[in-house]
Amino acid sequence: MPTSAELHERRQAAVARGVAHATAIYAKRAKNAEIWSEDGKRYIDFGAGIAVVNTGHQHPKIVAAVEEQLKAFSHVCFQVTPYESYVSLAERLNAIAPVERPAKTMLVSTGAEAVENAIKVARAFTGRPGIVSFSGGFHGRTLMGMALTGKVVPYKKGFGPFPADVYNVAFPNTYHGVTSEESLASLKSLFKYVADPSSIAAVIVEPVQGEGGFYIAPFDFLRALRAICDEHGILLIADEIQTGFARTGKMFGLEHSGVKADVVSMAKGLAGGFPLSAITGRAEVMDAANPGGLGGTYAGSPIACAAAHAVLDVIEEEKLCDRANAIGAIILDRCNKIKNSNLNCVGDVRGLGAMCAIELVKDKASAEPAPQLTQALMKTANENGLILLSCGTYGNVIRFLVPLTASDTIVGEGMDIFEASLTEAVNRVA
Ligand code: PMP
Repeated sequence: MPTSAELHERRQAAVARGVAHATAIYAKRAKNAEIWSEDGKRYIDFGAGIAVVNTGHQHPKIVAAVEEQLKAFSHVCFQVTPYESYVSLAERLNAIAPVERPAKTMLVSTGAEAVENAIKVARAFTGRPGIVSFSGGFHGRTLMGMALTGKVVPYKKGFGPFPADVYNVAFPNTYHGVTSEESLASLKSLFKYVADPSSIAAVIVEPVQGEGGFYIAPFDFLRALRAICDEHGILLIADEIQTGFARTGKMFGLEHSGVKADVVSMAKGLAGGFPLSAITGRAEVMDAANPGGLGGTYAGSPIACAAAHAVLDVIEEEKLCDRANAIGAIILDRCNKIKNSNLNCVGDVRGLGAMCAIELVKDKASAEPAPQLTQALMKTANENGLILLSCGTYGNVIRFLVPLTASDTIVGEGMDIFEASLTEAVNRVA
């Protein structure tokens, strides 16, 4: 049995350096909110495979649905011999996505691919080239995904040139001094000085920035953005890849604002760990692309569709939106207590449902980001049996992505480890 350390050495020799890793823990098995490593050590999982297993690892219903589908067929290609589960999943997403109905859906495999297709249908529908995205936003690692992404290192550095006609404006981020008004002003400046609004096909926005640092788009801001889009015939694309599927306490993050998007991109939590992504949008927008213009060999894999149906059932049956709010309340309460303690390193605590984060700074007064402390905390937490993920433009935010099926006991145990590890990390870095 190889140890995690041995595997890590082999990985360094065999796997490209650009594929980074948050931990050096090699997974052997996982159940709900726990992972056991090759070394037999148990970890509480506060990362959920980056917001994917909202329904927990190896949920029995999802495993059973996948096993059932495997016995029937694993791949025939929807574009060759279609199957019911793709159609019925499209029907279900059409009914729940935050878009005006009638809606239509197409399935692909990864988040980046969903984003690519959202841009494709927006361009096909409007006949316009331009796309606006936000600083700090993350939309994937394909060429268009990188172009839209508002962070250079590590996502874009060395990979250009990127597709043209993509414009980046400031995302509202009050903790770092950007108000909603300033953000909207930066969009209006773009229209005045750089690109005519009649050349813009779509604005793409995350209702809560994921990789960018768990900054919540103010609901008024989203409503104002919708109004500006409507004024200029621009489509609004909501990238719900990280916010989707109960994570924020509602099925989709946009629902908190009451805003409807023209197209929504989804992935991650959609199929509980099986590669599946989707875009759902207004039917006329989704139908703008010519037959054959959309799709992919593995797009809407029947195994992933079976998993997604089970995921949607589990979210409903186990009331995971309510659980997201309950888990978020536990995390925010603990984080606020830490913020108000004599530890001077917590700059901000924020969250929407269970999409919670704590921002670490050198000291509260300067609010200078503390990426070193964040790294030390992640390492210490690993040593103490907890998997944590960071995010943020400055790499100083810990994001809590607890499986929504985790019990209060597990969440509490994880938060105990988190708090102890933070104190330990502060002493280590000092
Ligand atoms: N958009 C958002 C908001 C994301 O969080 C991510 C993944 N972190 C992506 C797009 C890209 O998804 P994938 O890694 O599946 O391509």
